[in-house]
Amino acid sequence: MNTATAPVIEIRGLHKAYGSLEVLKGVDLVAPRGHVVSLIGSSGSGKSTLLRCCNLLEDSQQGEVIFEAEPVRWRGEGLHRHPADKAQVRRIRTNLSMVFQQFNLWSHLTILQNVMEAPVTVLGRDRAEVEAKAREYLAKVGIADKADAWPAQLSGGQQQRAAIARALCMEPRALLFDEPTSALDPELEQEVVRVIKALADEGRTMLIVTHDMKLAADVSDHVIFLHKGLIEEQGAPGAVFGAPKSERLRQFLSATM
Ligand code: ADP
Ligand code: MG
Repeated sequence: MNTATAPVIEIRGLHKAYGSLEVLKGVDLVAPRGHVVSLIGSSGSGKSTLLRCCNLLEDSQQGEVIFEAEPVRWRGEGLHRHPADKAQVRRIRTNLSMVFQQFNLWSHLTILQNVMEAPVTVLGRDRAEVEAKAREYLAKVGIADKADAWPAQLSGGQQQRAAIARALCMEPRALLFDEPTSALDPELEQEVVRVIKALADEGRTMLIVTHDMKLAADVSDHVIFLHKGLIEEQGAPGAVFGAPKSERLRQFLSATM
């Protein structure tokens, strides 16, 4: 399989513990190019941990993490297992841009500077070219007029859209969202939902952890329900939301929808 047809991210049999707390107990996940995969489940079920294992923000003890047909190379075993190749980690991490619940914009940089920072300093791209791209992405998320504002001058919805523009400006292979709308009031939530839907429509590969079942139902090609570190049920959104098989999923959905 070459990188044009391989899944952007593939996880096989992943185990992850924090000390003696087993958080992921053998999880598989495939994010084919151009697909949107949503992760749902109760608080503490391991959704964020799984997302962070994909871009190697977290180590894992067992199982494979594969980026575009390239398996992560490890050294050591179990709790002593770590990625063996720093350049590989950097390549994977810069190609899987993360958007966090709390936006995490740098408060001492303007919006434009926030969007330009990593492409210039991490990827070493030409500043003028990055600025042109950054302005394009700010326009795409609907805040071109905020380029010279400071993060604190923006609403939560605008800050999150700036964070999405920042992730896009890395021109990653996939976007990873961790509860992108959870910190927002309902009306601001919708501005961000619209942007995520537009990104799905243009065929971007995305992994989305969300508590917003309507968003997951609307944008996903595939939905994964995690329960206590295991995949309890997964499938097309129509099946997962329309005809859930597992009693746990039924209970979860009736409590959240
Ligand atoms: P979710 O995103 O589904 O709410 P998480 O992946 O954040 O779940 O957490 C799964 C479990 O791992 C929880 O029990 C949480 O308390 C624990 N956990 C998460 N991060 C850490 C950490 N850095 N150290 C220790 N335990 C953690
Ligand atoms: Mg979480």
